Amino acid sequence: MVNHVERAYRAWPILVSRAEEDSAAITYGDLAAQIGIHHRAIRYVLSVVQDYCMQEGLPPLTILAVNAETGNPGHGFIAWDMDDLERGRAEVSAFRWADFENPFVFAADGTTEGDLVRELVKRPATAKDVYARIRVRGMLQVVFRKALLRVYQGRCAICGLSFEDALEAAHLIPWNEASPQERMDPANGILLCATHHKLLDAGQITITRSGRIEYCDPDGTNGPYSASDKSISLNLHRKRAFLPAASNHRPSEEALAHHHRVHKWGDLA
Ligand SMILES: [Zn+2]
Repeated sequence: MVNHVERAYRAWPILVSRAEEDSAAITYGDLAAQIGIHHRAIRYVLSVVQDYCMQEGLPPLTILAVNAETGNPGHGFIAWDMDDLERGRAEVSAFRWADFENPFVFAADGTTEGDLVRELVKRPATAKDVYARIRVRGMLQVVFRKALLRVYQGRCAICGLSFEDALEAAHLIPWNEASPQERMDPANGILLCATHHKLLDAGQITITRSGRIEYCDPDGTNGPYSASDKSISLNLHRKRAFLPAASNHRPSEEALAHHHRVHKWGDLA
């Protein structure tokens, strides 16, 4: 199977060196030739780099790869407004890429993102080893989220919403306080839609040790609540959360206790 991430690992330094040369463009054909692949395959590689930059809020590095005829990026380029490419190139040129590690370094030996996701799902107790192999925060989050998507079967643990683009990997013990093991361990995570992720982080909703949803205002006294508000908050109070089947994939007691303590929920059995 073709490993686009391993190719992205090779494309990254080429694009970065162009960025450092005042954002000099490189044609799709030249970039493909430099990493030794067919020119038609370059778009898959660029989409890996583009996704990463968009997700991390980085300047649109792939703006530098252009169609030889037009001198501009082609259809697959969605990271910047096509009517304002000059400003995009200026941002890419001004960014300090040298301070930034190649995010695809884990793929240098042929390891795929899928391999790491499978490893996390299969052996969550060794999540710290996966952490040590990936290193780069943005990629760690990509792999952690994909592992949670798998063990939660692509549903928000609280409302069951299954629009994949709206699903996020939340940490119960927050990233900045977590050990390497806890940063990647599914048992310190929970798959939530963007709204429930915000409400969890704000301490307005949580999950009990027995796997029930707890909402901070079950009687609705802090209202008014619209029908939509109710359907995602107080109507879910005490309902069973959608949690993974395996105990080593479900939120650990320790991680839940941490969330309950920080947000002053008291003891929630
Ligand atoms: Zn939700």
